[in-house]
Order: sequence, then C-alpha cells, then structure tokens
Amino acid sequence: PKISPFLEPGKTTKVGSLAILQLSRDNLQPVYLKAPAGKHDGYAEGAVVNTRYGSFPHSTMIGVPWGSQIRASKVDTGSRGRNNKRKRDKSDDNGREASATVTEEKTEQESTPAEVNDGSTAATKKVVADVSGFIHILPPTPEVWTSSLPHRTQVVYTPDYSYVLHRIRARPGSVLIEAGAGSGSFSHASVRAVYNGYPTEGERKGKVYSFEFHEQRYHKMNKELEEHNLDSLVHLTHRDVYNGGFLIDGKSPEAEAIFLDLPAPWEALHHLSRRNPKNPQDKDWVSPLNPRKSAHICTFSPCIEQVTKTVSALRRLGWVDIDMVEIANRKYHTSRERVGLNLSMDRGVNNSARDVDEALARLTEIETRFREHAAKSKESDDEMDGDDDGLIKRHEKKEQKGGKKRGGDKKVKIDHKPASPESFETPASGMPLWMEGRLITRGEPEIKTHTSYLVFATLPREWTEEDEATAAARHPVVG
Ligand code: SAM
Repeated sequence: PKISPFLEPGKTTKVGSLAILQLSRDNLQPVYLKAPAGKHDGYAEGAVVNTRYGSFPHSTMIGVPWGSQIRASKVDTGSRGRNNKRKRDKSDDNGREASATVTEEKTEQESTPAEVNDGSTAATKKVVADVSGFIHILPPTPEVWTSSLPHRTQVVYTPDYSYVLHRIRARPGSVLIEAGAGSGSFSHASVRAVYNGYPTEGERKGKVYSFEFHEQRYHKMNKELEEHNLDSLVHLTHRDVYNGGFLIDGKSPEAEAIFLDLPAPWEALHHLSRRNPKNPQDKDWVSPLNPRKSAHICTFSPCIEQVTKTVSALRRLGWVDIDMVEIANRKYHTSRERVGLNLSMDRGVNNSARDVDEALARLTEIETRFREHAAKSKESDDEMDGDDDGLIKRHEKKEQKGGKKRGGDKKVKIDHKPASPESFETPASGMPLWMEGRLITRGEPEIKTHTSYLVFATLPREWTEEDEATAAARHPVVG
C-alpha cells in the first residue's frame, strides 16, 4: 500500500510529492511537484512556482533532499510573465505575508486574452532579473500543514493539539474518535500520533474515526485524505454526531481517545457511554468505546458557558478526573544579525545593496540594546532563572518606576544573552556563516489571544463479570 508522505516522506523529493514551500518563516505554500515540461505547461522549464522572491521551476525542486534551499531561476515566462507580474504586485501590496502565485494551478484563468494583453512586458523582464531569492522545500508534516492548509473552518493549532494528543494518550496503535473534522488540521496531527506502520499479528492498527456533518467539508476532506494517502487510516463519516453517534455500520470502533471540536459537545456525550444512559440493562446497546481500556476525552470550546455545560454532562455520565486547561502560547524569534546581511528566515531576498541604510540603522539599534543589555546582564541572569511571565512583569514594573520605555520598542520584551559573550565580537574570518553576527531573541509582545478551553476527563473501564471471575480464580478468598 502507498504510505502517506505525512508519515514517511522518504529522504528526497520526487515527481508527484506534496511539498511545502517555505517562502518566509510564516509563509508556507503547499505544492504538488510536477514532471518537467508537462503537456499543459507553457514554460520551457515545465511547471513553475512564481513568488515575490523569484521563480522556481519544479524541475529544480525534484530529487533534492527535503529541507534543501532552492535558489530562484531565471525563467522564460513568455506571456504568462505579464500575469505573474500583475499578481506579484498584488501580493506586494499585502506585504511579506502575501501568498505567492502557483502558476500551474491557474492555467484556465491565465490564458484568457484579457489578462495576457496588459502591456507590461518591459516591467516584467525587470522584475524577473531583479529578484534572486531563495525558498526552502519542506516535507509535509502536520505542523506545516496546519500553517498552510486551505481553511474551511477555524482550526486547531499545533500548541493546542500537541497538548491534547498527549493528554488523551494518543499513541501508536490507539483508536481515536474526532468530531467535527472541519479543515482536517487535528486529523492530520492525530493520525500521525496513532500510526503504527504494519502492526504485528494481534496488535491493533492505529486509526482515526472522524465525523463531519457539513456535506461540502466532508467531500473536500475525503478528497484531501485520498490525495495524502491517509484514507486507509482516517475513516471519515458524513454525520450529525449529536443525533447519530459514533458507530460505524452499527459496529463499535472501540476507541479509547476522543476529541470533540463541536459547538455543543455535551449533546454528543451520551453516545460515548459504556452502557445505554437511559437503560443500563439494555443488552442491545453498542458502545463506541474500547471495553478493555479507560477512555480519555478532550472537548475544545471557546466559551466558558460551553465548558460548564460540558462538565455537568461529563459528571452525570460518570466521567472522572475532569479538569480544564487553556494553552497560552508565545513564539520566540531568534536570529543572527550583522551589517548588510540578515540571516533571519524573514528575508528570502538577497537585496543587501538596497538594504545598507536599513542595516546600519538596525545595527545602531542593536548596539544600543546590547549596551543596555550588558549593563543589566547580571540582573537579567538572575531573572532568567524565573518564569518568563514573571520576568516580563518585573521589567514592566521597572519601566514604570524609571518612567521610561525601553528603547521605545514595545515589541521587544526580552533580549536574551547569547550563549557566550565572545559571539558579540567581530567574527574571525573562516567562521561559518551561520555563526556570524549577534544572536537576537525576541519574544512575542503578548500571549496570543485566547483560542479555546480544553476540558479533559477519563471514563474508567468497567469491571466485568469476567474480570471478577479471573480475579477470584487468581486470588481465591480464604476462609
Ligand atoms: N478540529 C477541526 C480542525 O482542526 O480543522 C476544526 C473543527 S470546526 C471548528 C467544527 C466542525 O464541526 C465544523 O466543520 C462543523 O461543520 C462540524 N460540526 C458541527 N456540528 C456537528 C455535528 N453535530 N456533527 C458533526 N460535525 C459537526
């Protein structure tokens, strides 16, 4: 069977690979790599990805190790170049985060005469010659997919799902229920967590049973699962789980991990019992849970009212160890900076000549900050041992006391010291490029706004008559 590139991407890119192109740190773009000079590609080079950092023929991205840096190529854009120029301009308006154009996916639109005749040939040639940037080619992982996937709904992000998967004990061989599937962000992360390759005899295959009641989203997600070769590991059902529950063709998926990202999770909980909640004696009732294991659930809700309703329902239905967590995630940006050359991932374009002024201004700013930093160094060292929030609060207090804001740059709350003070010195020649410059670390100014409350609970396995008999045989009651 074909193995999903999300689970085993191999060492190098191939024709047909799903690749994630990293244009800048947070600008990721998925693309399927096409064979050079495909039948419908107008370029001599075959399919080309055009970005504001240059043009990247697919042929330059095939057969390279994942993670490679790809340099822009000069391509003969012909009439398409005019369209690309127009599109590039559009994305320039939106700044660094603007998405780039994937030419081969717009074939229909781009060949319309109205678009071709925009008379900007000269300007186009200039743009192509000027830009000589680079991108990185990454294998698909749930993390990069979450940052680049086509959004059909709100999605669960990595800081939340990594914690959720840990708490609901998703591990190789687990069977997990998820509702609703939405944009498939959580589905991709969960299938990797439960994937156990080729299980040995008697071992269960890790699997995700996913449910989505929105028809269009269901179809889109099914197509995506097929394209990603995940359809044998994620079983998607089109269903309203409040009414229909979680059985598959009337049979139990025997799940032990559950994740509900639904507007009213409490309305689905009665299906996740071990017995019919209305009639515990009902012998015909089928539970979707694995009878041999405790079940671990997480519900994901943005409002506290949803949390209280969920907690009440969980209590009524016999769930224990109920608690709620909110993930407060903050990114740190670390880069090395020096005059005329910025090694930060935020700069895809080598336009150092144009940036000299900017770089000098930046260097002065860094010098100032470094001097401030060196003066406070000892104090900072002590504070670094504490928690970051405490650190920020203490800094803020100090700023208020002293009546001045640090450098007027509100964005920079923490400048970490480099690993050793020597790395601030001018680098000796022969120093590897990546070690040159100053190590600058910036924390995001604030904790990202609230995503959701995570409610966790456990439903212990039932003590059955069979368990009782086994226990009695092993430890007979004496006397
Ligand atoms: N967790 C998903 C992700 O990471 O991409 C996003 C889920 S989205 C916020 C919620 C989804 O639940 C929507 O796609 C919605 O159509 C679906 N949904 C809402 N009520 C449902 C129900 N009763 N049964 C099944 N799906 C439902």
